[in-house]
Amino acid sequence: MDLSDLRSVAAEAPWYAPQGDECTLFQHAAGCGLPLLIKGPTGCGKTRFVEHMAHVLQRPLITVSCHDDLSAADLVGRHLIAGGDTVWSDGPLTRAVRQGAICYLDEVVEARKDTTVVLHPLADDRRVLPIERTGELIPAAPGFMLVISYNPGYQNVLKGLKPSTRQRFVALDFGYPAPEVERAIVATEGGVDAATAQRLVALAQALRRLTEHDLEETASTRLLVMAARLHASGLPLRSAVRAAIVQALSDEPDTVAALEEVVLAVL
Ligand code: ADP
Repeated sequence: MDLSDLRSVAAEAPWYAPQGDECTLFQHAAGCGLPLLIKGPTGCGKTRFVEHMAHVLQRPLITVSCHDDLSAADLVGRHLIAGGDTVWSDGPLTRAVRQGAICYLDEVVEARKDTTVVLHPLADDRRVLPIERTGELIPAAPGFMLVISYNPGYQNVLKGLKPSTRQRFVALDFGYPAPEVERAIVATEGGVDAATAQRLVALAQALRRLTEHDLEETASTRLLVMAARLHASGLPLRSAVRAAIVQALSDEPDTVAALEEVVLAVL
């Protein structure tokens, strides 16, 4: 276990407001040794949920943000040259398998196709990680859990998870939290009073109803929290919303103008 893993066990549990029975489901999946797939838009609380559950279960958490250049070797490990010698260096997935940690692969479909292949033997009854380069077959230590997330909104046909991969996972579908939960999150995380949190959540709901513009994403809980923090630090609410939400959602002048109109109408 390296120091950063130790820290994640020792730290205070990150605060998490449940959307439903996801905490119970996570505990059962962990107890049954089943991997978990969390679907949901960006900024809706997936990462916070996993951080919270790792603390509840007292497991180290190893998080990997996947990107389109991430290869199987980045997850599993590779030989490195050190002082003329070739030494094997474990990747984050291999460390998690050896330690019995929770390995969270965020936005897994962004990664290169060869990465999902290494997940298969870990995600079914075998619970092993074969390392081709060294010929090792590492059984997952007790407590190891694989958690992956993806944003179905981003998917195109090429990037979707293959059925053979997704059928190995227990799946949880996240949306934005219900208004009363989201108000509590914005107030607590953003450091604003209940009335301001209520206005920001009402704005988010109006923005989420805007469907005629080609927005790739909409106002997420994360963006609301950012706007709330800016406001709590002294910025007028509309300026905070413009910087944290409107400009984050679009570069198109027409779309920005439409978003601004909603802001003026609601705030
Ligand atoms: P995702 O992983 O889905 O992109 P995050 O978990 O990073 O989203 O959430 C973004 C931010 O929104 C968090 O840092 C936290 O401040 C806040 N947040 C969202 N949902 C919750 C929740 N259910 N409980 C507490 N904070 C939340």
